[in-house]
Amino acid sequence: MIDTHCHLNDVKAFPDPTLAIREANEAGVDKIIVVGVDTEWSELAIEIAEAHDNVWAVVGWHPTSAAKYTTQELSRIEELAKHEKCVGIGEIGFDFHWDYSSLEQQTVCLYDQLELAESIGKPVVFHCREAYSALLNVLEKRTVLPYLMHCFAGNMDDAKRAIELNCLFGVDGPVTYKKADELRSTLEFIGLDRLVLETDAPWLSPAPYRGKPNHSKYLRHICEGVAGVFGVDTGVVSQKTTENAVRFFNI
Ligand SMILES: [Zn+2]
Repeated sequence: MIDTHCHLNDVKAFPDPTLAIREANEAGVDKIIVVGVDTEWSELAIEIAEAHDNVWAVVGWHPTSAAKYTTQELSRIEELAKHEKCVGIGEIGFDFHWDYSSLEQQTVCLYDQLELAESIGKPVVFHCREAYSALLNVLEKRTVLPYLMHCFAGNMDDAKRAIELNCLFGVDGPVTYKKADELRSTLEFIGLDRLVLETDAPWLSPAPYRGKPNHSKYLRHICEGVAGVFGVDTGVVSQKTTENAVRFFNI
């Protein structure tokens, strides 16, 4: 399995990323992608990826931090993005849930980084919260890149529009939650061909660990959740989602 989205660059949650990686490997997670949310976390993601063969980085500036985003920060992200262990730009997008940055700030931050992804030809990992229509409105007017909707939580209509853009969809802990029937129906509609597994550790722990810090080593619970959605063995899910992730990130 591949954990396509986690934050081993969160030094408070993961003071020893090497240990977290070893534990994940022992739990069947062969490859890990560490995702940035600002320059500091993106630098750390690259550092961790440099130190481990089976770890890669995605670098970018998160919409909730857009108030602190500057062109100077963009040029640092640009440099990191060219690193050989950087396999994508993210997590970028829109977040209308939190009020930490204005729509204008989020828009500048998003457009700059979409242009960056286009210019260096790397895929994009989106963070999108309560903002699917707005994000899809932007993407539908641009040249389409390989897109991944991290921790997809949109409705059926959002899913249909994202499929038109040939997006992949990240599945996280919520697929294991009792009340997530709507999410499970949407994922079933999307189909296994477009899904990848992700933990978003240390957040979004799957059901058995809900309320506690999440780890990459818990990825199998998400794999089991997806297997339940499609009524197939976990082996089918791990194989298919691994193929999807390998193709998307070119790892
Ligand atoms: Zn994340």
